[in-house]
Amino acid sequence: MTSPRGQIDISGVTKRFRIKDRPLLALDQISLSVAPGEFVSIVGPSGCGKSTLLRLLAGLERADSGRLVKDGTEISGPSLDRGLVFQEPRLFPWLTVVQNITLGLQNQRMSRAERRRGVAEHIDLVGLAGFENAYPHQLSGGMAQRAAIARALVNRPEVLLLDEPFGALDALTRARLQGELQRIWAHEGITMLLVTHDVDEAVILGDRVVVMAPRPGRIARGVEVDLPHPRIRADDRLVRLRN
Ligand code: ADP
Ligand code: MG
Repeated sequence: MTSPRGQIDISGVTKRFRIKDRPLLALDQISLSVAPGEFVSIVGPSGCGKSTLLRLLAGLERADSGRLVKDGTEISGPSLDRGLVFQEPRLFPWLTVVQNITLGLQNQRMSRAERRRGVAEHIDLVGLAGFENAYPHQLSGGMAQRAAIARALVNRPEVLLLDEPFGALDALTRARLQGELQRIWAHEGITMLLVTHDVDEAVILGDRVVVMAPRPGRIARGVEVDLPHPRIRADDRLVRLRN
């Protein structure tokens, strides 16, 4: 029997940047563990290091000290076992939805038919069926973000990292996508780390809300909140909005 995957262990992680020779402590001794399949929301004021933490987990930056471990293996660079979604969808404007998602598909060993099936499945999963051949400029902000989520999921990552994915969307679209994200999470059974500055969103979606203190990027002690029935509460709210 294989144990569930998608466990994240962050211990004592420090990250410094230099701005014009002045050192800036972006993360100071961050520690956090996330269980396989857990949905963790991370909130905190602008500049507290949320995006830096996700970029470290994505393998796009290296920590100065401390360890970031996924399923027992140290994170040392980008990998298909983690998907990343940014605030802006970052689609290639000259490619269609299907082409953008296919480009994200990195598994070279798949046959053409398998690739096509994988992409189609993920287009369905995010509710973009019928828009396969649309170009990004023909999509609404919400649809473009759906395409970006499909691209992040198409390699079947065990962890999805979301950096304020709905921050640029209007309230109704945001609520719809929050519901979709929750459905995808339940369907795929993957670990989710959602960075947001919307506390409602964090509480609605997260099994656990982690609060990062403003400076210098420490996870505040004693402010993690366990949420008893996040799914039920989110569904209630979405039903009301859809009516
Ligand atoms: P958040 O996402 O919580 O708003 P960030 O992780 O983007 O915060 O940034 C944390 C701190 O690190 C900020 O002070 C920011 O200016 C700084 N920072 C982030 N990325 C870089 C970089 N590549 N070079 C220099 N400073 C950076
Ligand atoms: Mg950020």
